[in-house]
Amino acid sequence: MTYVEFCVAIAQLAALARFRVTSWWRSPVSNAKVGGVEDSWHILGMACDVVAETVLDTERIKKFGQKLGLKVHDEVTHLHLEPMGAVE
Ligand SMILES: [Zn+2]
Repeated sequence: MTYVEFCVAIAQLAALARFRVTSWWRSPVSNAKVGGVEDSWHILGMACDVVAETVLDTERIKKFGQKLGLKVHDEVTHLHLEPMGAVE
């Protein structure tokens, strides 16, 4: 998945579920401050943290995120989205 494909997938997901973005791009310094892993997709702008509006929206993000090629990690306070495959 390329960066543009990732952005399009997030936009498509926004049409299917209601959420707000709480983190996207991070510099290595800001990534370290929030306890992100050193090789975080956030440093490449290829990860997006979102908070769903309702439980139903959480389920829709998990279901449709996968269909759009996104790996969805439930981090309890938010959902972390990143590409399922490697960067091309
Ligand atoms: Zn994240």
